[in-house]
Amino acid sequence: MTHVFHRNPRGKLPVAVAGEGMVLIDHEGKRYIDASGGAAVSCLGHGHPRVVEAIRKQVGQLAYAHTSFFTTEPAEELAAMLAAAAPGSLNHVYFLSGGSEAVEAALKLARQYHVESGQPQRQYFIARRQSYHGNTLGALAIGGNAWRREMFMPLLIEAHHVSPCYAYRERKDGESDAQYVQRLADELEHKILSLGADKVAAFIAETVVGATAGAVPPVADYFRKMRAVCDKYGVLLILDEVMSGMGRTGYLFACEEDGVQPDIVAIAKGLGAGYQPIGAMICSDRIYEAIVQGSGFFQHGHTYIGHATACAAAIAVQNAIREDQLLDNVRQRGEQLRAALRESFSEQAHVGDIRGRGLFVGVELVADRASKAPLDPSLRTHARVKAEAMKRGLLVYPMGGTIDGRRGDHILLAPPFIATRQDIDDIVGRLAEAVAAAVATA
Ligand code: PLP
Repeated sequence: MTHVFHRNPRGKLPVAVAGEGMVLIDHEGKRYIDASGGAAVSCLGHGHPRVVEAIRKQVGQLAYAHTSFFTTEPAEELAAMLAAAAPGSLNHVYFLSGGSEAVEAALKLARQYHVESGQPQRQYFIARRQSYHGNTLGALAIGGNAWRREMFMPLLIEAHHVSPCYAYRERKDGESDAQYVQRLADELEHKILSLGADKVAAFIAETVVGATAGAVPPVADYFRKMRAVCDKYGVLLILDEVMSGMGRTGYLFACEEDGVQPDIVAIAKGLGAGYQPIGAMICSDRIYEAIVQGSGFFQHGHTYIGHATACAAAIAVQNAIREDQLLDNVRQRGEQLRAALRESFSEQAHVGDIRGRGLFVGVELVADRASKAPLDPSLRTHARVKAEAMKRGLLVYPMGGTIDGRRGDHILLAPPFIATRQDIDDIVGRLAEAVAAAVATA
């Protein structure tokens, strides 16, 4: 009997007892290559000595001080690092304990900004049907997965959805990138106008879609066009980089590659790399100034915001990424990973698409490559790939999301930034065996 209330109380899990670099070790001594970093969290792998030492030092000196009374050196230092690295005028960092909290804070800040700027009627949020923004009630309300929301509908704020940018499935035959992006921008514009041009608070999107569909990057110019539509109607752009940010795509902020600056960005997972729970919301000068000049108080807060030990861990993570030039490695190993997957799966009829940026890579499984027909959802192929991979000492993140009522099977790969050429070959070799075993009965 276990007293921990696990997310799947009927399941039986191995006990993780140790981590060494790319590898997690269970209670029986079995070793697993961590090719998904949990859910794109452990970007430095496990047991990183400089991060461990930084945490030890900070806990000994000052573990925590409440933000009603004090700021701390680690919080100030980390905020300065992030503000310097973030695009344009994203200069103001509010620390939280994870991704859902960062998204909740972003929604509330967007709303408060409009109230304080004399536009209290702006109350609607527009998100995309293919998206995951977290499991707290606000984040759940705006998320795209209807099946996650269903049971909780009476508790949720009103949210509105538009199409995702999902070229593999949703770009029409013969449609160019430019035409596809224009169609999506028109859809957003119509949605804003149908809700009332002065009623919409913000449009929120994952820069690269993670948990619903396995590392789906936007088509070129998508975010520039969406930004232009938002600007036309005074709608804020919130980018959720909880999964895709902090170096995962080869850039510290994924939106750097898209040449777009959001009004607010949410980050988490890779920020603390799993060594401490930490997230952050970063906003632009304009939003910050509206609060400072207005009420002077952001109506929000949690006990653990700006946690000194969590901030110290995140500083050490950021230093390791910079000192060891890991973003270069992310870009190179990411190219290698996608190329190796394409080669390895070239004859695998159940692999429909391989995509992503940096070490953020998705594999979409299908019943038939030509028609792109999804696999029968009752087969739960994504879960079978996970189980077959674990048998072979490999951890990959499976997803069986619903996209506009259609079930899809996806595998997310998000290996630590320290992965070597050999690690990538090893991951692809084991995954190819796991997929072959999982689809054998499909
Ligand atoms: N936003 C995105 C894009 C995510 O992928 C996730 C988690 O997977 C969240 C928000 C929620 O983060 P957390 O699980 O830390 O609350």
